[in-house]
Amino acid sequence: MMPDILPPCNECAKCCFAGPWLLKGIDINIPEEYVIELPEGIQINNPLKLNNYLGRLKQRENGSCVMLDEDSKTCTIYDNRPLACKLFHRGSPSCLEVLDGN
Ligand code: SF4
Ligand code: SF4
Repeated sequence: MMPDILPPCNECAKCCFAGPWLLKGIDINIPEEYVIELPEGIQINNPLKLNNYLGRLKQRENGSCVMLDEDSKTCTIYDNRPLACKLFHRGSPSCLEVLDGN
């Protein structure tokens, strides 16, 4: 087994303020009322270089994802969170960029 060389996630939830969180077909379990559909063919620049997005998660005025419980700093749909969130690894360049920006 590979040693875990990444720094531990401090559960700051800052990545949940770093949208847009783009959705693909696999994210079918996201409740419709929390999704903003994207016009067909639109491309949004993002660090994960995913494409063929169907939509994005809504954000609150303070920038947080609507699926974030701001008191506990936990994801309310953790098991069904978007692929983009599943690919966002603690200690990754994207994580460090989010942490550096604060
Ligand atoms: S879906 Fe969950 S993990 Fe993804 S940004 Fe929203 S609260 Fe965070
Ligand atoms: S993945 Fe990074 S930004 Fe997200 S909660 Fe963990 S330490 Fe914070």
